[in-house]
Amino acid sequence: MEVKTIKDTDLSQNPVIAQMSLNNHEQILFCNDNATGLKAIIAIHNTVLGPSLGGTRMWNYNNEMEALNDVLRLSRGMTYKSSVAGLNLGGGKAVIIGDSKKIKNEALLRRFGKFVNSLGGKYITAEDVAMSSRDMEIIKMETDHVSGLPENMGGSGDPSPVTAYGVYVSMKASAKEVWGSDNLAGKKVLVQGVGHVGEVLVGYLTKDGAKVYVNDISEERLKDVAGKYGVVVVKAEEMFDLDIDIYAPCALGATVNDDTLAKLKCKIICGAANNQLANEHIHGQAVLKQGILYAPDFVVNAGGIINVYYELEGYNRERALSHAEKIYDTTWNIIQMAKKEGIPTYVAATRIAEQRIESIAKINAVL
Ligand code: NAD
Repeated sequence: MEVKTIKDTDLSQNPVIAQMSLNNHEQILFCNDNATGLKAIIAIHNTVLGPSLGGTRMWNYNNEMEALNDVLRLSRGMTYKSSVAGLNLGGGKAVIIGDSKKIKNEALLRRFGKFVNSLGGKYITAEDVAMSSRDMEIIKMETDHVSGLPENMGGSGDPSPVTAYGVYVSMKASAKEVWGSDNLAGKKVLVQGVGHVGEVLVGYLTKDGAKVYVNDISEERLKDVAGKYGVVVVKAEEMFDLDIDIYAPCALGATVNDDTLAKLKCKIICGAANNQLANEHIHGQAVLKQGILYAPDFVVNAGGIINVYYELEGYNRERALSHAEKIYDTTWNIIQMAKKEGIPTYVAATRIAEQRIESIAKINAVL
């Protein structure tokens, strides 16, 4: 999705509201508490479809501008992710500035929870980098506007199985486009990162008879997954030279870049990692030129947000999985639109998300 930028001179004079108006953010809450050392920013990008939902990330940012940019970028991304997934949720995100190992404690989290509560449900928080479900339990002491709680607290628990299922069905829809059938039997798939999502995905793929290659920086994970599923372990320096059909990035972002695209021979890229394209404009076009079908990450990995959405309604895993299954049709529709209009798939996905927001905005005014 296109993130607009602003001239440095404009930014130094108008660092906040100018930045917000650029991508039409609704509201930002700056949070400070000297007693606990809490410094946080909550950004609400858009609430047309429903309350804004997005995780809280704790990170030792170099400066406040970096934190502001991150929270604005991430909250906007959540608007698109939820819209395209057909959820009645808007986009929001929070960042807590600081080293989680040094300053995160009960008082700081509860103070943060009070700030979340002050928004009256316009922003619902959840886990993200350096935040755990235990932290959500603590935040919950101060606000009901929190999701991603452990199952024993009535929450939805680990979202990874639902995310993995979404990746699997998205991969099938992509395969149908490329090979005319969504049967993955015999397809050679590289899964990079066999953590929570990657392992479950490997389970689906091996069950379907795909030939799976796995890579991970953790020897322990590799040993475990290779032992359980009988898949082939490949070294990092060799994986992009493999003769594969599908590349599934399930570890970290920016792995679709100049270096990997110079080597990749696959027909499909479809995985769980966020922000897979190192540069959306450059690499979104590059995959198109190389004849690789890129299933947009924020469409593919929406199972995570789908899972927490169902927690708000009284959690039911079957309903979450059944909603995640719709990622098959969504992927298919995005591919067809991209093909028809000759645009990168991520652009088509963004348009579909925007169209939904625009059309719902029109009916919101009607009683
Ligand atoms: P995880 O931490 O459980 O697993 C990630 C795995 O990748 C780990 O086994 C780790 O050792 C491995 N890894 C890290 N760096 C690597 C590298 N350079 N090369 C190879 N392997 C590497 O995370 P997860 O929950 O499985 O999520 C996977 C990805 O999907 C993440 O990028 C996450 O942001 C994204 N995602 C996850 C969910 C979810 O529901 N868990 C939802 C949406 C997006």
